[in-house]
Amino acid sequence: MVKICCIGAGYVGGPTMAVIALKCPAVEVVVVDISVARINAWNSDQLPIYEPGLDDVVRQCRGKNLFFSTDVEKHVFEADIIFVSVNTPTKTSGLGAGKAADLTYWESAARMIADVSKSDKIVVEKSTVPVKTAEAIEKILTHNSKGINYQILSNPEFLAEGTAIQDLFNPDRVLIGGRKTPEGQKAVQALKAVYTQWVPEDRVITTNLWSAELTKLAANAILAKRISSINSISALCEATGANITEVAYSVGKDSRIGPKFLNASVGFGGSCFQKDILNLVYICECYGFLEAANYWKTVIKINDYQKSRFVNRVVASMFNTLSGKKIAVLGFAFKKDTGDTRETPAIDVCKGLLADKASISIYDPQVTEDQIQRDLTMNKFDWDHPIHLQPMSPTTVKKVSVTWDAYEATKGAHGICILTEWDEFKGLDYQKIYDNMQKPAFLFDGRNVVDVEKLREIGFVVYSIGKPLDT
Ligand code: NAD
Repeated sequence: MVKICCIGAGYVGGPTMAVIALKCPAVEVVVVDISVARINAWNSDQLPIYEPGLDDVVRQCRGKNLFFSTDVEKHVFEADIIFVSVNTPTKTSGLGAGKAADLTYWESAARMIADVSKSDKIVVEKSTVPVKTAEAIEKILTHNSKGINYQILSNPEFLAEGTAIQDLFNPDRVLIGGRKTPEGQKAVQALKAVYTQWVPEDRVITTNLWSAELTKLAANAILAKRISSINSISALCEATGANITEVAYSVGKDSRIGPKFLNASVGFGGSCFQKDILNLVYICECYGFLEAANYWKTVIKINDYQKSRFVNRVVASMFNTLSGKKIAVLGFAFKKDTGDTRETPAIDVCKGLLADKASISIYDPQVTEDQIQRDLTMNKFDWDHPIHLQPMSPTTVKKVSVTWDAYEATKGAHGICILTEWDEFKGLDYQKIYDNMQKPAFLFDGRNVVDVEKLREIGFVVYSIGKPLDT
């Protein structure tokens, strides 16, 4: 029986390994993590992450060929294939601060693998890492090899949170990069044999290591660029009377462009897009390609601009001050169908509203109060002023309340900001909400989820990204 160990039981490691276990009953999969709380949650009925379909997959194979453990060393020692799916955040200090990937967790995982291994291993980069990371990992492993043969593969993950299970069941492609040596190719084939248990062979792409590593950064940068492109057009729509939904639809009908990732919004979020673009910028700068670095920086600048443009619109529409006003925030996760709030635009928008002295009442179906309080007090790295901003004062934190119902959040509010496209926000009883709000009742739709005309008929003053303004 092939034994797989995955280091890192997060948003990628957990779902990916659960699907491998489900699709490969003859493989034993153990997911390990240094976080006791996370492993306990994976072993309970309350999984640590919300992802549609995940509970079902875990229920089918946990305890059979899928296990979660904190005994990292034991399972690394026993494994034939070791996936490393640890976090690779942006460095916050030292060389490359604010841009370069922080590989501390990866390096410590690699050193631990070298320490405990007594047999040959295939080590798979599942985390998103800078191009050439495999070279560094190889150095760490081979300098401590004790005669063990290590083969490093790059197998970046393309799942999207919210649709992770669907994406893993039916991926557009699986990418495996390896050395062109006979041992390297043998390792590529061993990993390919796992995926082809359910993925059609023609969707498994094999490349050299560096192409695979760089593809992941390029794919995320290009996806985020599409969002910034359409967002940059949304401001023009508002100013001219064009409608972004109509423009995006017609643009996307061009088969060279396609319709995906053309939804205008308050901005992209999530743990990956910004981090991976910053990393790409840093790599371009390290190689001296400064124009290319500037090109990719613009994607983030437009995203930041879109968030501040949204806040400015709220303040300007509400008579230039939010002092003494209650704003209901519907949605805090960075997208629907996830409870993940990493880099969510809601953080910057809420901070902007609070800076103008609003009180805010937040409702999100999957985000906890603790998460929101932590996110709003966390320091944020500022691109143009590379110092850490001061955390929010405890007094400001008191101006934030979290409710478990959209109607409660909007009761007595002067305005509503929709910041996540949860389906339930489309079906709310907006007449009831309107009746319980201060007048004029403002609604700012950062995700284009509501029917603008219907809401205007009820009496709301509506601003929706990229839509003709309410005059
Ligand atoms: P995460 O923070 O949810 O999970 C990482 C886990 O690794 C944590 O639970 C942490 O405790 C654990 N860990 C760190 N060091 C460890 C060690 N030495 N030993 C054991 N466990 C350790 O992160 P994530 O969202 O799953 O992302 C993981 C990687 O995958 C990142 O590089 C990310 O860029 C990439 N990625 C993420 C997504 C996504 O949608 N989240 C998609 C594709 C790729």
